[in-house]
Amino acid sequence: MSYRWGRFDGSLMDDKRWQYLESHIDAKLTPEEMAEGWHWCCEFDYLLVGPGMQEQEYCLCFDEPNIAL
Ligand SMILES: [Zn+2]
Repeated sequence: MSYRWGRFDGSLMDDKRWQYLESHIDAKLTPEEMAEGWHWCCEFDYLLVGPGMQEQEYCLCFDEPNIAL
């Protein structure tokens, strides 16, 4: 694996794409990326979080839908 952080194993996301999305405010996730679970995570100051990232384990975005908003 050549990814700098080794985070994106098994995902279509790669380091370059992740950096692009993080640094371009207008960048949009593709439907494929969203389907994998990529999102700007409110748990982590809107860090781009997805499969293979440690942060994903602590992400509550999809665990408590529509509860106590
Ligand atoms: Zn999240």
